[in-house]
Amino acid sequence: AVSRGNGLVGNDITANVKTIKGLPEKLSSSVDLAVRGEIFLDKKDFEVYNTKMGNIYANPRNFAAGTIRRIKTEEVAAVPLKILCYDAYSSDLSADNARKIHDFLALNHFPMSPAIRFFQENSAPNSLFAPAPFWELSQYVEELLNKRQDFPYEIDGLVIKVSEYPLREELGYTARHPRWALAFKFESPQNESQVEDITIQIGRTGKVTPLALITPVQIAGSTVSRATLHNQDYINGLELSIGDKVLVSKRGDIIPAIEKVTEKSEHPLFQTPAACPACKTSFVTKGAHQFCPNPDCPERIREKLVYFVQTLDMENIGRSTVELLLNKGYIHNLSDFLDFDFGTLETETGFGPKKIALMRAGFEKSKKESFKTVLSALGLEEIGPKAIEILLDHGFNDVQSIQRAIQNESSDFFKTIHGIGETTALAIIRHFSDPEVLSLLDKLQLQGFQMRLEPSQNISLSTKLSDTLWVVTGSFASFQPRERALELIKQHGGRTASSVSKNTTHLLAGENAGSKLTKAQSLGIKIISEKEFLEMLG
Ligand SMILES: [Zn+2]
Repeated sequence: AVSRGNGLVGNDITANVKTIKGLPEKLSSSVDLAVRGEIFLDKKDFEVYNTKMGNIYANPRNFAAGTIRRIKTEEVAAVPLKILCYDAYSSDLSADNARKIHDFLALNHFPMSPAIRFFQENSAPNSLFAPAPFWELSQYVEELLNKRQDFPYEIDGLVIKVSEYPLREELGYTARHPRWALAFKFESPQNESQVEDITIQIGRTGKVTPLALITPVQIAGSTVSRATLHNQDYINGLELSIGDKVLVSKRGDIIPAIEKVTEKSEHPLFQTPAACPACKTSFVTKGAHQFCPNPDCPERIREKLVYFVQTLDMENIGRSTVELLLNKGYIHNLSDFLDFDFGTLETETGFGPKKIALMRAGFEKSKKESFKTVLSALGLEEIGPKAIEILLDHGFNDVQSIQRAIQNESSDFFKTIHGIGETTALAIIRHFSDPEVLSLLDKLQLQGFQMRLEPSQNISLSTKLSDTLWVVTGSFASFQPRERALELIKQHGGRTASSVSKNTTHLLAGENAGSKLTKAQSLGIKIISEKEFLEMLG
């Protein structure tokens, strides 16, 4: 089981998910299945457990997210987390409709939201959960709106989706959202407050974000004291000044936003300063945003470092550590950080031997993160996680292969890769020729970070095994652990399953193969030895 993470890469939370009651441990049949669900905490359980833990979480959502990320599984098991599944992907089920997936999950005892409904123009009850006629849809939305408070858990809206997958394909996506789904957000809770000050935040790319500091108010059970103002256009739209009384909401119940000014102050309209408060460099404008263009800006260096440690998931090293190291002059940049000996901190208050050992362990553990994560963590401008993924997919599995292409190919080379635009292509050449970046990459390599893409099942080597379904049993001389064989099958276009069924086409049998071999023989399935398997793949 993995968390949603950044949308592309999540964290492995398998052990913690196993503590959630009600999830089935076995399916009725052997299928490849990826299930999506939401882990949550009931409102009343939140009250009880949050009080017990000293009110560290603002709301049930934060509590659930914080709990599932915990390292100690017994701490997770102590919290009555629940899960509701709402979607799944399976190539084995060949479903053309979300309803079929829903029914499969329900029949296999996955906990499903009782609020899910299907609607159909000409209702034909061919499903276990018969759809209602279309015209009842708006009525149902209305009904849920009124019942919102009656749910034992917090909800922030409804999503209405097209069920038919072919139709989803046809509708496609806008730049950010699918065209086949519609989010129906409930009206946000809001409260009155006053803008006490407006500060300027500089991000790691230099992006300028004005931030309103407001008189703390309670909204939806949490204290709100800051609201993002995005950019000058947003401020102009609100006609916002320091001292204004404002209406603040939590949009989608998460991000505080200033909805409108309810009472003007004497102050003039707030204007973003023309230069960076931290390094005095004049801002430059790109689109709706302003940027501090100085790569050595102390704010940018700090945010880059915070991004680095957070992306690499360095446990026990967070924003406050980074700030301390920079503010006290222990380090001046990422390069210094990589050489830093955490033992130096023993003279600082609050940094006992135990804490220092934990920080060292956090740093060491991050060296297991993939090459892709390491590259992402560097936050190279214009080379985001998506571009990195494309590069890796195209066989650039280490820094040297990228440098070779820069030296040997024409300057237009990277642009010819599908999905890489001109800006990114130029950025690749610029960054991977930049002595500063190259010395950072050397340092990471020296420190033992993952600087090579290890082969994974995502890589396609051939289609030799397409339309085959394999079960692997016994032990092998060439594949240790056995998962290597499963990986190879997938890389050559085959599929794998954990148990033998009538759909199985091949059984790869190693030494000491047991009951699976007997069953495969009785079903007349092709039995393949290790030697034959290696010959098949050539
Ligand atoms: Zn600056």
